[in-house]
Amino acid sequence: MTLKKITIAVDGHSSCGKSTLAKAIATHFAYKYIDSGAMYRAVTLYAIQNQLIDSKDIKKDILENDLNLNKIIIDFKYNETKKKSDTYLNGHCVENEIRSIEVSNFVSLIAELKFVRQKMVALQQGMGKDGGIVMDGRDIGTVVFPNAELKIFLTAQVEIRAERRFKELIAKGDQVSFQEILNNLTTRDRIDSTREESPLIQSKDAVVIDNSRYTIEEQNLIAFQLVEKCL
Ligand code: C5P
Repeated sequence: MTLKKITIAVDGHSSCGKSTLAKAIATHFAYKYIDSGAMYRAVTLYAIQNQLIDSKDIKKDILENDLNLNKIIIDFKYNETKKKSDTYLNGHCVENEIRSIEVSNFVSLIAELKFVRQKMVALQQGMGKDGGIVMDGRDIGTVVFPNAELKIFLTAQVEIRAERRFKELIAKGDQVSFQEILNNLTTRDRIDSTREESPLIQSKDAVVIDNSRYTIEEQNLIAFQLVEKCL
C-alpha cells in the first residue's frame, strides 16, 4: 500500500522556527520542502541590488512601475554538502544575502505588493501541484493551499524568537544587536498581520503549536504525529 502524498502548510510569525520544522517534516516523510519566504527575500534582494528600494518610505507606485518580475528567476537547488536547498536569483546563489538584516528590513514592504504576491502564489501553487510538499510562510494555509490536508500555525513569544535569531546571526558573524532583531521581528509581524493582501492570519482549520518552551525534537514529534494522522 502506498501512502498518500499530502500537502502540508506551515504558517506563523517571523523567526519562530517554521523552516526548521518544515524541513524536518520533509526529511522524515521524504517530501519536497519549499521556503516561500526565501522567494519574497530574493525579490527584495533584486530590488535592493537594482537601487529600486533604499528607504522605508518607498512609494508603492514607483515599485509597481520599476520592479519587473519578468526579469527575476528564482530557483532552489539542493546543496549536497549542506544537505539543504539553496536559493538562486537569476542563476546566482543568494542563500546568505537574502538572510541579511538589510533584506529582512525591507522584505515585508515588498511582500505587501499585490503584483508580487500574485506572481509568488502562482509559482508556489505550481511547485505544489503534485502534493508531497511542505511549504512554510504566512499565507500558505489560507491562500496558496487552502485545501492542504494539514495546516500548522507555529508561534512563540517574540523575545524568545528574537533571542534565537540573534544567536544564529552572531554565530554566522553578522554584526547585529538583540534590540535590532527584536525591532525587526515586531515590525515584520505587524506589517505581515495588518497588510491588505493576504495578511498573516491563523486559518480556522490550522493546528497551533506554540514552541516557546519546546525543544526542536519535541516540536518535531508533535508535528510528525499530526502528519501520520492525515496519511
Ligand atoms: O519566512 P521569512 O521570515 O523568511 O519571510 C520573510 C518575509 O517574507 C516575511 O516577513 C513576510 O513579509 C514575507 N512572506 C510573506 N508570505 C509568505 C512568506 C513570507 O509575506 N508566504
